[in-house]
Amino acid sequence: MKYHLETLAIHAGQDPEAMTGAVTVPIFQTSTYAQEGLGQPRLGYEYSRTNNPTRQAYEQCLAALEGARHGIAFASGMAATNNCMYLLQSGDEVLVSDDVYGGTFRFFTKVMSKFGVKAHFVNTSDLAEVEKNLTSKTKLVWVESPTNPLLKLTDVRAVCKLAKAKGALVIVDNTFMSPAFQRPLELGADMVMHSATKYLGGHSDLVGGILATNSDELNEVMRFHQNAVGAIPGPFDCWLALRGLKTLAVRMQAHAKNAQAIADYLEAHPAVRQVIYPGLASHPQHALARTQMHGFGGMISFEIKGGIEEAKTLVESTKLFLLAESLGGVESLIEVPATMTHASIPRERRLEMGIADGLIRLSVGIENSQDLIGDLEQALKKAVSKTLV
Ligand SMILES: *Cc1c(COP(=O)(O)O)cnc(C)c1O
Repeated sequence: MKYHLETLAIHAGQDPEAMTGAVTVPIFQTSTYAQEGLGQPRLGYEYSRTNNPTRQAYEQCLAALEGARHGIAFASGMAATNNCMYLLQSGDEVLVSDDVYGGTFRFFTKVMSKFGVKAHFVNTSDLAEVEKNLTSKTKLVWVESPTNPLLKLTDVRAVCKLAKAKGALVIVDNTFMSPAFQRPLELGADMVMHSATKYLGGHSDLVGGILATNSDELNEVMRFHQNAVGAIPGPFDCWLALRGLKTLAVRMQAHAKNAQAIADYLEAHPAVRQVIYPGLASHPQHALARTQMHGFGGMISFEIKGGIEEAKTLVESTKLFLLAESLGGVESLIEVPATMTHASIPRERRLEMGIADGLIRLSVGIENSQDLIGDLEQALKKAVSKTLV
């Protein structure tokens, strides 16, 4: 029988423990395993960098949620991204969404460039741009959809078709949607990458990363390097991530319901210039969001009238929305990309991209939506009291 995502989240990889029947997977906090005889490890466990039962349960569960055969876990999202680079060699080229996570941009420009891997940053929302920039040297297309903080979507199905025609692999950073709302492998991607720090863990209490793929061949390369390079998560972090996965489906529904209510509220507010949320009919790719995703997520960006001063007052006035970087936890967060998450991008380039000084990003949590709207209401009033209305 084929189970649904909500059921897989509770059961995949998580049979009751064999000795005691414990219904939660134990934290196997061990580095090594006693062998039954020379060259006879029990059930294949020899050393915890190579394999650990808690990690294995987490990998199997996430793989099941993504509709994948294999899950491969890492110590952070960036470690998972780095592991994908062992598919490449010096001289290879990569196409990368131009609005990717800042750490991914830094990784390609400051790290991979030293090893002769050239990244071309293109607007992957524009299929003609993708086609134009795919060459015989392109080994990999790295897509993030929706992007951060502008929530631009890429048509993953279409990009996969274009890449496949040129023999390039497609990896999708699925951090913003999680498998509850988007399953890139079903859209044709070769591999999915997650920062488990965000929605998968979901409680802002761990840093982790994970890959998922249906390809035995890619899995073999990823597994070999997971062990050979060694950026693995510890058993306790795997246990926390697995615990997070159990409630992923209900959390994502709650995030999305709150985010939709807040996006509607903000769009009608006189102090707000523009609201970006894939669930709004005003989002330029709302139609694509409807066909590619199963929900619109918990991230909203909006521009307050005025500029940096108004944005500063707003984010310093909210009480429930905590002023912090990161996203995807049960608590609501607020930040100003221009001065926080995206400060490393020169102002001119930021403005070119559409990241205004007064742009504000919300990671909407699972608190009561009326309480959250009330919090924004009082903060918006303070922010614009001097300049507007
Ligand atoms: C946070 C994040 C990453 C990096 O993950 P870490 O766990 O912080 O290493 C990559 N991509 C996206 C979209 C992210 O939000």
